[in-house]
Amino acid sequence: MHELSVTQGMLEIALKHAQQAGAQRITHINLVIGDLSSIVDDSVQFYFDIISQDTIAEGAQLVFQRVPATFRCWDCGNIYTSRGHDFTCPQCGGMKVEVIAGNELRVESIEVE
Ligand SMILES: [Zn+2]
Repeated sequence: MHELSVTQGMLEIALKHAQQAGAQRITHINLVIGDLSSIVDDSVQFYFDIISQDTIAEGAQLVFQRVPATFRCWDCGNIYTSRGHDFTCPQCGGMKVEVIAGNELRVESIEVE
């Protein structure tokens, strides 16, 4: 159910922006989602189609831009990305790492008519 609350938040933001712009209809919502946010694109679109009914965002296309998980190693300072669940530094094998990108979850922009 994580995606539902996230999707509601996105819809509210998109509607607010559209209202400010005096838009009649939202056609696209561009989202930036970090790989670490554990958000499933299909679930977001699924919930969105339901909760956007009878709003000006109904039928809008969600466009997902994925941000890879990016880490910095505390031991050697190496900055690297990882797509799996192995966050170990590939350079020195260090386990003390810091997440510097990949938790993003935001509405980047909307396209309206
Ligand atoms: Zn390292």
